[in-house]
Amino acid sequence: MPPKVKGLLIVVTGPSAVGKGTICDALRQEAPDVKWSVSCTTRSARPGEVHGREYFFISHEEFQRRIGAGELLEWAQVYQNFYGTPRQYVDEMIDAGYNMILDIDMQGARRVREMYPGSVFVFVIPPSMEALRQRIVGRGTETDEAVQIRLQQAPKWIEEGLQYDYVIINDDLSSAVRHLRSIIQAEKSRTTRQGGALIRQLLEKGELDSHD
Ligand code: 5GP
Repeated sequence: MPPKVKGLLIVVTGPSAVGKGTICDALRQEAPDVKWSVSCTTRSARPGEVHGREYFFISHEEFQRRIGAGELLEWAQVYQNFYGTPRQYVDEMIDAGYNMILDIDMQGARRVREMYPGSVFVFVIPPSMEALRQRIVGRGTETDEAVQIRLQQAPKWIEEGLQYDYVIINDDLSSAVRHLRSIIQAEKSRTTRQGGALIRQLLEKGELDSHD
């Protein structure tokens, strides 16, 4: 059963190719109270990607329409393409008590910070600059030019991590996932969130409903 208090909005970001998507995917597999949002994008699908699973692949015109209609909680232009988070699903899930993970870029994270001040901001860093370089080069999905841009911008992006609430090192996947889970648990336990609701329930009912 999902908790009865509002869910957390957890924003996970970090430099390009750091592996934040892999950490979020692994967490979703093992945490039923965590939901994720499928973003929309104007980029074309890569081999193996499915409309509605990795992304909603939409036209530039449709993307602009959604911005104009206020349907996106945040959006950003990442390199040549636009990416955005559908607002309605995220709001509904949070209201229903689920924790929502957004795997978005740093521009989007800044917008969420302005609009959802209670969100939790997690920044993923590589164990070394060389490890990040290898990941950027090794992904093999980008053009040489795009790889060069990402390599050049990496130190500037990493510095942005100083603005975040938490930092996770993506060295070993399972320990990075454990780390993210413990951040979610700690945030939910705050008395300003679920912790306070538990205290009130104990006082009102004399006992607690099922809890994690
Ligand atoms: P990719 O094209 O490799 O799937 O994603 C490129 C970048 O766009 C990644 O850093 C990813 O986190 C980011 N991204 C994906 N969806 C969204 C979104 O809805 N909003 C924002 N701001 N960034 C996104």
